[in-house]
Amino acid sequence: MDAVCTDEFTREERDLCDGYWSAGYIGNPYEGSALMAKQWAALCDNRLALLDEQTLRFKLVEGMQRLYNGIAGDLDCPIHLNSPVSRVEHTDDGATITLESGETETADAVIVTVPVGALGTIEFSPALHPDMCRVIDQKWNSTGAKIWIKVRGHHSIVCYAPSPGPVTVMRSEYFTDDGATILVGFGPDHTAIDLEDPESARRILAEWDLDLEVIGCTGHDWVADRYSGQAWATLKKGQFIDGWSHLLARDSRLYFAGADWANGWRGVVVDGALESGISQARTVIRELRDSETG
Ligand SMILES: Cc1cc2nc3c(=O)[nH]c(=O)nc-3n(C[C@H](O)[C@H](O)[C@H](O)COP(=O)(O)OP(=O)(O)OC[C@H]3O[C@@H](n4cnc5c(N)ncnc54)[C@H](O)[C@@H]3O)c2cc1C
Repeated sequence: MDAVCTDEFTREERDLCDGYWSAGYIGNPYEGSALMAKQWAALCDNRLALLDEQTLRFKLVEGMQRLYNGIAGDLDCPIHLNSPVSRVEHTDDGATITLESGETETADAVIVTVPVGALGTIEFSPALHPDMCRVIDQKWNSTGAKIWIKVRGHHSIVCYAPSPGPVTVMRSEYFTDDGATILVGFGPDHTAIDLEDPESARRILAEWDLDLEVIGCTGHDWVADRYSGQAWATLKKGQFIDGWSHLLARDSRLYFAGADWANGWRGVVVDGALESGISQARTVIRELRDSETG
């Protein structure tokens, strides 16, 4: 990146770009796929304001819970939560899953919606194609973290800083009735931030010389979480062409769906998970119908 930009852009422009994409990739932007950034821009008509609106501004009414409950309400089958799967056997006409508890379940097909960062915890039999295994071993470029910081008073803030700052984009998200502001921050390295430590939050604010009183901070370390192993899915160099789409190939009743395999909004917003889920569900229904009639 440096080699291309040195003469064309100012230090400030490069720092802004670095900060923005360290947050967008939620990882090292210099290791990220440039095509992924171009696709995000294309999905937003090449307008930065629209990209920010798509990724940051609009919220679902009543949050993600309403979406989950809506999907659950459409189902007329049992839903098992807190039931980690350790093994998936897949054949031409069905699949059997084994839970970590040892229980098994057999079905006509299985759709795996586990993100790449957690797929290594599941044993597949027969083993997945080497191209799929390579992606799972490499993981994505998604190594960062998101932190919520509560500060006293109402402050309207948008800050950028280049990597390797622990947080490279921070902005005001909510004003609370108790006279505080909830800031949200994104950084490329989850090990650089202690999400629950107010001292860590103070160090983040000090990057911009912000003289604000920290009331508290929190977040979830998605990269360290065994069942995600990543923040939102973002691609490394090369993975746009030689990566995510390998998991769409199929030669048994094993299917993959979820944000990591979406055609459009891969990872960063839930739209991609919905797109992928709907289209893979239709594929499975069609193929099961064809095999019955055919
Ligand atoms: C920090 C962060 C902030 C985000 N903010 C936004 C936002 O503001 N707006 C937005 O639209 N999107 C946002 N996203 C993206 C959005 O959360 C994802 O695109 C979406 O959740 C992906 O859905 P999914 O079903 O593909 O995967 P996930 O939501 O990751 O679901 C995968 C599920 O698989 C389960 N699992 C893992 N391993 C196993 C196993 N062995 N057995 C059984 N189950 C297993 C996991 O527990 C998890 O429940 C954010 C993501 C992150 C990480």
